[in-house]
Amino acid sequence: MSDALEVLNPATGETVATVPAATRDDVDAAVTRATAAQRTWAAAAPADRARLLRRFAAAVDAHTEELARLEVLEAGHTIGNARWEAANVRDLLDYAAGGVERLTGRQIPVPGGIDVTFLEPLGVIGVIAPWNFPMPIAAWGIAPALAAGNAVILKPAETTPLTALRLAELALEAGLPEHLLQVLPGRGDTAGDALVEHPDVAKIVFTGSTRTGKQVMAKCADRVKPVTLELGGKSPNIVFADADIEAAAAAAPMSFLDNTGQDCCARTRILVQRTVHDRFLDLLAPLVEGVVVGDPADEKTQMGPLISQAQLDRVRSYVTDDLTAVRGIAPDGPGFWYPPTLVTGADPTAPVAVEEVFGPVAVVLPFDDEADAVRLANATEYGLSGSLWTRDVGRALRVSRAVAAGNLSVNSHSSVRYWTPFGGYKQSGLGRELGPDALTAFTETKNVFISTEA
Ligand code: NAD
Repeated sequence: MSDALEVLNPATGETVATVPAATRDDVDAAVTRATAAQRTWAAAAPADRARLLRRFAAAVDAHTEELARLEVLEAGHTIGNARWEAANVRDLLDYAAGGVERLTGRQIPVPGGIDVTFLEPLGVIGVIAPWNFPMPIAAWGIAPALAAGNAVILKPAETTPLTALRLAELALEAGLPEHLLQVLPGRGDTAGDALVEHPDVAKIVFTGSTRTGKQVMAKCADRVKPVTLELGGKSPNIVFADADIEAAAAAAPMSFLDNTGQDCCARTRILVQRTVHDRFLDLLAPLVEGVVVGDPADEKTQMGPLISQAQLDRVRSYVTDDLTAVRGIAPDGPGFWYPPTLVTGADPTAPVAVEEVFGPVAVVLPFDDEADAVRLANATEYGLSGSLWTRDVGRALRVSRAVAAGNLSVNSHSSVRYWTPFGGYKQSGLGRELGPDALTAFTETKNVFISTEA
């Protein structure tokens, strides 16, 4: 009997679908089909490729509500977030479509001829996605890769294959060539690994845990296969005494509770200057306690369940009984529920303070001065995102430059826009996605010299 993936509704624990898991042979066959589709796609006129991607975007737009409902069902995302995620796929496709005709090489002055560069597609791209933002993260790879003339095989996470499968259907309905975008739900150590090891997969775009990312990178190294890694995070939210403390406190809860904390950019280390620490905590605690946790399909819900029992066990293991914590409320009963939680008074080197919990848990730690804030902010192996709150422009710039992270925001928690670059320092990743250079990451540069003296 072939292997199957059981998809659960995280809010109830009930099975909502069973999806066949791709085997290594399935991956082989998909790569063969993708290789043929890619050749035709790359040879098509740029304007035609752009038009088809815009049609794909329009198809996603027309099905936003359906895709969002599916995301609520399989991932437990709040309906508001899920609508944003579907719309984000549409925007990523539109943005990438705008790049097709602008993906140009250069002409470089040389003696005795002319020198030109071509940005050639790589071929078949393997996109390996996590479960925390199944649609947007898949599209971060799919949209620019297709726009640059590649074919894509997407392996969604085991727990969240449904929206990915629906997106592939919409691509076909929109007129994208058959086999150009294939979705292969499957297990990481079979379908995922087969993509990584396949000699005809030209690049891997991996988003997931740092542990798995290292294994993927090591295997890619064997074949000198390019790889983009978007990995974990433990991002600081630094609140200086000169900041608008009320505004900083008001923004803090959803900066780590959005998506139930299952966000690689979650601001889970709240670093507060000692002179305002108690006042900040007095403002923050009731806000965390008041977050509305419940049925993700309810429009009023701010936070839904965790993705799985395994994730719930993991989060519980970090908030040990010896820690002082402020807790919000979460439903009892079936489903994978954990309350919004603020840990205070933890040792700055404790696991909860430096490791990625990937749940609705933040630590609040005091600091003394700017140098101390930067030292604490950088005291993890991660470097994905971070925020700082201050009214001092010079400090905002100094600290932004001093924190070793790929995405910083000042007096805000924004991290990800499809038109600005995104990626991690240190063990948070390798390479950049999104932004104006997104398509270039899916090309190889070829330099050609043509003699004018022959
Ligand atoms: P994971 O590493 O367990 O799985 C990610 C994907 O890799 C899944 O599709 C999985 O099936 C696949 N996989 C597992 N083993 C594999 C193998 N040996 N070879 C190839 N593929 C394999 O991570 P997860 O638990 O699904 O996702 C959560 C993690 O993702 C968190 O650590 C989070 O921070 C990270 N994340 C990072 C970003 C970012 O942009 N930096 C964004 C979202 C999530």
